[in-house]
Amino acid sequence: MRFTLNCEGTETLGKILGESLPTGTFLALSGDLGGGKTTFTKALAQGLGFSGEVTSPTFNLLHIYEGGRAPLYHFDLYRIKNPEELMDIGFEEYVESDGITAAEWAEYAGEALPERRIELHFEKAGETERTVEILPVQCELGAELERRLMELQ
Ligand code: ADP
Ligand code: MG
Repeated sequence: MRFTLNCEGTETLGKILGESLPTGTFLALSGDLGGGKTTFTKALAQGLGFSGEVTSPTFNLLHIYEGGRAPLYHFDLYRIKNPEELMDIGFEEYVESDGITAAEWAEYAGEALPERRIELHFEKAGETERTVEILPVQCELGAELERRLMELQ
C-alpha cells in the first residue's frame, strides 16, 4: 500500500497502527531524513495510549514508552556502528517481547532485522507531502486494519 500524506495524514497513519497492531509487531522504518519516521512514531505512541512526550532516540538508540496498552520500543539505528552494538542494547530481546517495536533506519540492523515485520518507507515528496509505502513481510495487516488504511488514501 502506498500513500501520499500531509503531516496530519502521517499522524493519522501512526494513530491507526498504534490502535490496531497486535503486540509483538516489528515496524521497520526507513527512508529520507526528515521523511517523517519520528513524527509517525509519536503518533504510534499516542495510538497505543501513551500520553507523555516522545523524542527521537538518535543519541540513546532506544527509548521505551510504557503506560499504553503495550510498551513501545522506539529505536533509531542511525548511529549504529556494527551489529554487536545491537546485541549490547538487547535489541533481539525487545523485538521478541510483548511490546511493539518501531526502528528508524531499520536497514542498519543487518541480520538482526526480524523476518516477520512491517516495512514502512518514507520519502519526501514536497514541503509538506510524504509518500509512505507499507509492506508487510511474512505477516498480514488483517482485513480490518487494511480497511481503515484504505480510508486514508
Ligand atoms: P525522520 O525521523 O524521518 O528524520 P521527522 O519526523 O523527525 O523525520 O521529521 C519530519 C519533518 O517534516 C518534521 O519537521 C515534520 O513537521 C515535517 N513534515 C512535513 N510534512 C510532513 C508529513 N507529511 N509527514 C511527516 N512529517 C512532515
Ligand atoms: Mg527520526
